[in-house]
Amino acid sequence: MSYQLIFLGPPGAGKGTQAESVCRDRGIPQISTGDILRGAIKAGTELGRKAKAYMDEGLLAPDDLIIGIMEERLRQSDCEAGFLLDGVPRTVPQAEAVEAMLENLGRPLTAVVSIDVPDEDIIARITGRRSCPKDGMVYHVQYKAPRTEGRCDLCGTELVQRADDTRETVENRLRVYKEQTAPLIDFYSEREVLAMVDGRGSIDEIAARVADAIDRAASRQGS
Ligand code: AMP
Repeated sequence: MSYQLIFLGPPGAGKGTQAESVCRDRGIPQISTGDILRGAIKAGTELGRKAKAYMDEGLLAPDDLIIGIMEERLRQSDCEAGFLLDGVPRTVPQAEAVEAMLENLGRPLTAVVSIDVPDEDIIARITGRRSCPKDGMVYHVQYKAPRTEGRCDLCGTELVQRADDTRETVENRLRVYKEQTAPLIDFYSEREVLAMVDGRGSIDEIAARVADAIDRAASRQGS
């Protein structure tokens, strides 16, 4: 079974955390444009230079930049087993471009999982989020605390807060989500691939709902 999955949802809905376990369980790569852009900023590349100002403000990077990244990434050989797009597409033009790429590759979308969480929960979640600058592992001071406070479980590196995880930037990112990304719910609903998942509760509870939604979509596609 090859899975072509998209995770939609406001920032802080738990897309990255849920994507990690889905990708591990199903043996597919997690493609996060946010991670790719953060990697580019860290490496000091031209792409990173272009994206940084948008990211610092909580605004979306330009569509052509993101579409270019996706075209390159989806051509890589690890995507032959399927993939999970985490945080992309985020606008209608990006969704149309991804649709054209999948059509070219002859790969239908298995499911678009939209993880739904109220705004007040999101603010609490995002401002408590910490990550490892070395290997990208994500933690939360309350919901997914590392074994040793402030240190990565895998490598012991001191955890950091993302520059765009402050309250002010989060409010901006939520507004941007509602204006530019929420319209994708209708876009995918019309294509009958949308699965809405309640993103409240423990990480394991949400993971069970997500896995169930993917299995149901995959069996519909297989039948
Ligand atoms: P994320 O880690 O997915 O929350 O993304 C962090 C930031 O990277 C966003 O606030 C945007 O500035 C930028 N970004 C990531 N993915 C996209 C995308 N698909 N389209 C536009 N900007 C993006």
